[in-house]
Formats: sequence, C-alpha cells, structure tokens
Amino acid sequence: MAPQPAALRLVVKQGNGVSPVLPAHKPSTNLDEGNFTWATSCPPIREVPHGKKDHDMQRVFVVSPEGAPLSPCRPARARWLLTQQKAAVLRRYPFTIILKQPPSGTVTPPLRVKLDPGSKTTGLAIVNEATGEVVWAGEITHRGQQVKDALDARRAARRGRRQRHTRYRPPRFDNRTRPKGWLPPSLLSRVQKVLTWVERLRRVVPLTAISFELVRFDTQLIEHPETTGIEYQQGTLAGWEVREYLLLKWGYRCAYCQQEAIRWEVDHIVPRSRGGSNRVSNLALACHPCNQSKGDRTAAENGHPDVQAQAKHSLKDAAAVNSTRWALYERVQRTGLPVETGTGGRTKWNRTQRGLPKTHWTDAACVGASTPASICAQGVIPLAITAMGRHSRQMCRPNAFGFPDKAPKATSVVGGFRTGDIVRAIVPAPSVKSGTYVGRLAIRATGSCNLKTPAGTIQGIHYKYCQPLHRGDGYRYAKGDAAFLPHA
Ligand SMILES: [Zn+2]
Repeated sequence: MAPQPAALRLVVKQGNGVSPVLPAHKPSTNLDEGNFTWATSCPPIREVPHGKKDHDMQRVFVVSPEGAPLSPCRPARARWLLTQQKAAVLRRYPFTIILKQPPSGTVTPPLRVKLDPGSKTTGLAIVNEATGEVVWAGEITHRGQQVKDALDARRAARRGRRQRHTRYRPPRFDNRTRPKGWLPPSLLSRVQKVLTWVERLRRVVPLTAISFELVRFDTQLIEHPETTGIEYQQGTLAGWEVREYLLLKWGYRCAYCQQEAIRWEVDHIVPRSRGGSNRVSNLALACHPCNQSKGDRTAAENGHPDVQAQAKHSLKDAAAVNSTRWALYERVQRTGLPVETGTGGRTKWNRTQRGLPKTHWTDAACVGASTPASICAQGVIPLAITAMGRHSRQMCRPNAFGFPDKAPKATSVVGGFRTGDIVRAIVPAPSVKSGTYVGRLAIRATGSCNLKTPAGTIQGIHYKYCQPLHRGDGYRYAKGDAAFLPHA
C-alpha cells in the first residue's frame, strides 16, 4: 500500500486561487482541472492524563459469571468492582472482568463492531450506535510480509537442495491443486487475524452488527472508471470515490516527477482545452509545478509517453487488496451478524465531516452509511495488537543446508511458561535485579528468561519469580488497555 500522510484534511482550491478549508458537510464534485490537497492541521484527540476522571474514556468489557457478554462499563466502575471483590480479571487483552454475582438488570446498548482492513494494519472500533461513543478501539499489525519471507526462505532451501544433485528429488509443481477461494498464505493470514479478533470481541461484548470497508472505491459510483465514457458527476460521494481511486492508481506520487506532493492536483492527460474528457482514465495526479509547466500540452507532448500509456491501465494492486476484502466479506457473513459494507471514499468523507484525525481506528469508526452523526472518540487509546505467530507451524526444521534433520518444533514450555506470556516478575533482594517487572516473556531452556518491559529488555530473570498475567496468544500488545491494569 502507498503511504499516506499522517493527518489528512481535504482542501479544495477554487478558481481564484484561494484555498478555503472544504466545508465538512459538502464535498466538492468539481474536479474540472480542480485541485485537491492535504492540509496537515487536524484537531488532535485529547489525551486523558493518568488518574483524571475518565468520564469520556473507553469502556471495560464485562461478562456474567456464566461467561455471557454484558454491556461494557466505565473504567472507574470496573476498578470499584475489582477492589470490592465483586469481580475478577478474566483477560488482560482486551481488558475484561468477570462478575462474581449475576447482574440484577441488564441494558444492552446497540454496539456495532467496525473494521477497516488494510494490507499492513487493520483498524477496529466498537461504536455505540445510540450515542456515537467509541467504546473500544484497536489496531492489528499484520505479519503478511513475514509469512511471505518465511515461505520464500523455504522455497529457496528446497530449490537449492535440488540444484546440488545430492539426491534426486523430483520437482513438485504439477501434482498440486488449489481449492476454490484459495488465497496466498500472506493474504490468508491477514483475513484470519481480523476474523480472530471479531470472534474474540464477540465473546466479551454483546455485538449487534458488523460494518466494514469493503473496497477503497465504488466502481458503481464512478460508473466503471476505465471502461465507460460517462462523466463522473453523480452526487456528492462520487467525487470522493474518484479522488480515492486516483490516489491509489498513481500511488500517491506525481505522475510526472514521481515526487510525493504536499498538494495534489488533478491533471487531465489530454487537456480539456484540447478536447480531453472528464472520464477517469484521462485523469492523473500531479504536483502543482508539473501541472503548471505541462500547460495545455498532452502528457506525450510533455515528454511523458509512459503516463499517456498508463492512463489506459487499471488498478491491479488495488484489485488485489479489494479481493482480500471480498474474502473477508464472505467469512464475516458466516458470523451470522448483520453485515454492512462501505467504501473508502465514504469512510474518508464521514471522517472529515466529523472532524476526526486520520488513524486506522478512526477510519474504522467512520466506516459505512450507519455511522452516527457525531462520533465521540475522546480519551480512547487504541489497543496496539501486533501479530507475532504462535511458534507452532513448522513441523520439520532443516539444517543450514536445507536438509530436514531436526525434530519438529518443540512446544517450548519451560516451567509452565512459554514465549509470549505476559508475566509479573518479583525478584527478591538481595539481587542486582531485585524489583517488580511486568513484561513479555522470552523463554529459555535454562529457565533463565528475558523479559521485555516498556522500559527495555531485562535479561536473566528465572521463571520461578514469574506469575502469569496473560498467556501467550500469538499477539504482542502495547498501550490501550494496559492503562486499566490494577497493578501494572
Ligand atoms: Zn510533479
């Protein structure tokens, strides 16, 4: 995916060269040599200082003594329930408490989980549809590239083995079939991570519906962008879909100088003055100087036959991302919850209209037509979720030369602990390491482990000093719910 500026807000330049901020409720459909650019000024989301009253903070998940999800509560109430021994901590990530007595009466708010699937990061948000509050937010960092790297390494080892004539191993390429709906493992990993989290959230929150961003642009709204000659002025959203499409098609770079611009302009490859049309295939991204110097020449006349040629190509990469989203769509539908889909253009429009900065989780909160008129996201700290793998896949390990000669991966459990567990270590005095630490464990066969804490890695902590807080589940966590840990 192309990088996006950190904080975005759309600014439209009018004919007189003045650049007013676009009125949030009215996206411009005028793209006639029209200009759009990104300003970096955005209202920051207010940080709630630690210990301050958390009246507008995200919620803590609550389950009944039987494990049924209940309405999430405020952190202050969760702390009170915990100190009064009326509840216990069920999970640290996402922070969930379990009541010891059944609740007397329960009110279930309409809670919708909203997803913004991305190639590297997926945004998650749970929004109360009645009040517009963001109840919880998270961002999953995928390990798609690591999956690909691991499979490339395996492929290289196998190929090297055949090339060395050590023993004959027939190449295995024509005895394989791919089932219908097959996805490359790196893409499948992304889809599965998102589904895993939807299911995990469902276990602790009474979710009523799912929304997710299905495609970055709506081909229906822009009327088959590359094939038909119909111009694209069809209502307020259409212009936004076209912008999103162009940004992706040209990879957030000026088509002429390949620079990332501060302000983008829509360039007509064959100028309007020379009979060029407004159809999307005639549009390119350009920076201001390039657009000015091109003047009324065509791209080919301007010394860019490549741009002229590329104008005819469509978006293969974006299509690949879109296909992953479709795979996710099919699987999300199997959850049985009502599923709503939205486009990237609508997400951006919703987010700009509600004055929210650009992050993965605010994008998620703004997905779809059902987005409440106002979104309250103050005090929300997203849980940073990083996929780490479960140390369980490889069934036969090769040596340095690619020969299978080692035992399958062991479970690597030492003293009841394994890598990925989040533990509290209390090292007694006298010891240079005496003290209390909370962090992620890297187990060693000797029993002397490494502990990764927010302050740094502490080496040589024996497991006998450790108490488990959260068993390793294939993810690393940061920020977010850690603020609620009573003792962390
Ligand atoms: Zn340029």
